[in-house]
Amino acid sequence: MGDPWQWLDEARAKVRARGLVRRLDPTEGLLDLASNDYLGLARHPVVVDGAVEAARRFGAGSTGSRLVTGTTSLHLALEEALAARCGAETALVFSSGYLANLGAVTTLAGPGTLVVSDRGNHASLIDACRLSRATVQVVAHGDVAAVETALAGWAGRAVVVTDAVFSVDGTLAPLVALHDVVRRHGALLVVDEAHGLGVLGPQGAGACALLGLDREPDVVRTVTLSKALGAQGGAVLGPAALRDHLVDTARSFVFDTGLAPASVGAALAALDLVTDERIGLLAAVGASLAAALDVEPTPGAVVRLLVGDPFLASEARDRCRAERVLVGCFRPPSVPVGEACLRVTARADLTSAEVARAAAVVRSALRPPEG
Ligand code: PMP
Repeated sequence: MGDPWQWLDEARAKVRARGLVRRLDPTEGLLDLASNDYLGLARHPVVVDGAVEAARRFGAGSTGSRLVTGTTSLHLALEEALAARCGAETALVFSSGYLANLGAVTTLAGPGTLVVSDRGNHASLIDACRLSRATVQVVAHGDVAAVETALAGWAGRAVVVTDAVFSVDGTLAPLVALHDVVRRHGALLVVDEAHGLGVLGPQGAGACALLGLDREPDVVRTVTLSKALGAQGGAVLGPAALRDHLVDTARSFVFDTGLAPASVGAALAALDLVTDERIGLLAAVGASLAAALDVEPTPGAVVRLLVGDPFLASEARDRCRAERVLVGCFRPPSVPVGEACLRVTARADLTSAEVARAAAVVRSALRPPEG
């Protein structure tokens, strides 16, 4: 009999040869420029109290699917608060942003539907497209003309999916132009506001709200509670009929245990702290970080520093870590082959001294070693 694990040795060797080995290192005590805690709320005492109180009142886990025992009055309050904040008719909370994307796309698209997906979309949207069994057309990053061509060549139902703020490079999708195309073709636009909520728009309502697309009937939004809100979980925002249909049919909602009460309580508390003032602080930190790194500022809180080679990117990340500065290192499949990069994120509560120190460490880590 052969060794049933031989395939794994071969698979691991390939991962190593491509420079794609990942590590799980503890991060406490490091200067964080890698997380998505854009407003610094994950450790905010009010947010932590929100989590603690919810856990005490409702339990450590939600004990069942949202449809059985996993819905508390707090879940419903969070859904109302999210919808109100973002200017949506309704919201439905999932236990992660990943599952919210799976639920939204697989409910809106199926066999016989065309899904047009930006090449830079987050993996959860990519997986959602695959799982939907729709006809999927991937278009170049931000290529509105390609979206138009795809929709023009399709007679049936169609959905266009895009990140609002792209997670790796912090750029904004051409949402107004995409919506215009979608409207003219009678399609739907799904916008993932993971990096827009709490970062852009009035009171952090997101990129769609910033651009006046929040009340458009053909726009469905997804959000995550795990980034600017500092909590955990996700949601789909859209019309009441869509919410009803997700409750009845979205497999990532129906067959998943409801979001833990602590995360719900934390997200609700965090929403009150998402103020224009805090967002202004984040924007100022983002601008000074970009300036210190000598790159163009982005509308989001993310700066991408292209390295190319995955080995070099991880070495640069490790050099930062050795200086106790934590930066993101993105390698395939998170980015296309040849586009490995460092990803540096701003946080509203970073001091100017921390920004200066982090930027100096990152710049020096990116310089090729002498000799
Ligand atoms: N969409 C985007 C654009 C993301 O960056 C992420 C998280 N990395 C997700 C969705 C998934 O959200 P969550 O972590 O809440 O599952």
